[in-house]
Amino acid sequence: MKICVSVGHSQLKDGTFTSANGIVNEYKYCKGLAPELVKILRKEGNTVDLLECPEREFTTPSQEKTYKIPRINGKKYDLLVELHLNSYDGSAHGSEVLYYSQTGKTYADRIVAKLGTIFTNRGSKERPNLYILNSTDCPALIVETFFCDSVVDTNTVKRVGDPEIAKLIAEGILNKKITDVDTSVHKNCVLYEGSVDLNTANIFSWYLDDCVVQTVEEYQSYSTHNLYIVGGGATNKFKARNLPDRFTAFEGANRFDTLNEALNYAKADRFAESIDNLLDIDNGAETYDEPINIGEDDNNFNPDI
Ligand SMILES: [Zn+2]
Repeated sequence: MKICVSVGHSQLKDGTFTSANGIVNEYKYCKGLAPELVKILRKEGNTVDLLECPEREFTTPSQEKTYKIPRINGKKYDLLVELHLNSYDGSAHGSEVLYYSQTGKTYADRIVAKLGTIFTNRGSKERPNLYILNSTDCPALIVETFFCDSVVDTNTVKRVGDPEIAKLIAEGILNKKITDVDTSVHKNCVLYEGSVDLNTANIFSWYLDDCVVQTVEEYQSYSTHNLYIVGGGATNKFKARNLPDRFTAFEGANRFDTLNEALNYAKADRFAESIDNLLDIDNGAETYDEPINIGEDDNNFNPDI
C-alpha cells in the first residue's frame, strides 16, 4: 500500500500550537507517534510518506490545509491517516476514528477496535465537514487516539508506550497481527525540562547518532543505550523517578554554562566509545550510576509537556 501518515496541527510563528493542550500537547504527542507508525508500516512492506507542517512558519491554522492538500492529492495514496488527540473536560476518555468515505469506514472500524484493546472504544464516526477527510482524493482517516486531557488515557499511554500504540494503529490499517515490533531502543536519548533546556538538548542531539530528545516524563526505562540529561531541573526530576538507568547530566550554573558543558562533552568526540568508558569522563559533567530515590510519586504527567 502507499500510505501517507500526517501529523495533525502545527506550531505557529508566535510559538503557539493550533492543537489541544491537555496533560500532553496534542501536536507534540502526534509528532512523536508518527515516526513510530511510519517505521512499522514501512517494515511491513508499505510505501509510506510522513507529512508534517513546517514549524513557526504559519500565522493561522488555515495555512495547514493550504500546505497539506497539494502534498496529498495526485500522489495516488491508498490511504491517508492523520494523527490527532481528543480533548474535552478531563473525564471523557477513549479512542475515536473519523472517516468520510465507506472505504475509510472499513479502516476506521478496524483501527478503533484495535485501540479499543487498551483504551475505551468510542467507535468510528462519519464526519463530512473536515477538510482532511473531504478535500483529499484518497480514503482518509483522522485517528483520535486518546484524550490528551484525560488522566486515565495518559496513564495508559505511559504504561504501554508509543511503539505499542503505533503497532495497534498499524494492525488496524493492515488488518493483520504484528508481532515483532521494535520497542524503539535508540542509541542516544537526551532529556530536558522547559523550553530553555530544550534548545540545549536539541543542539547537543545534533552531535549524536540515532538520538531522541524527550522530557523526563516521556522517558521509558532502558529505551536507550546512552542517556543524557540537560539541566538541574530535569536531573532532579529524573532522580525522583527512581529509575535504574545510568545517565550523564549537564548542570551548569545557567543556560550558557549548561550548553557549554554539553558541547564540550560532544566535541570531545567520545561517542564512539562504549558506555562504560563514557562513565569515567571527567569534563564537568556528572555521571550517576544509580539515581537516588527521594520518594516522589511520578504517576502523573507534567501538565507542561
Ligand atoms: Zn486535533
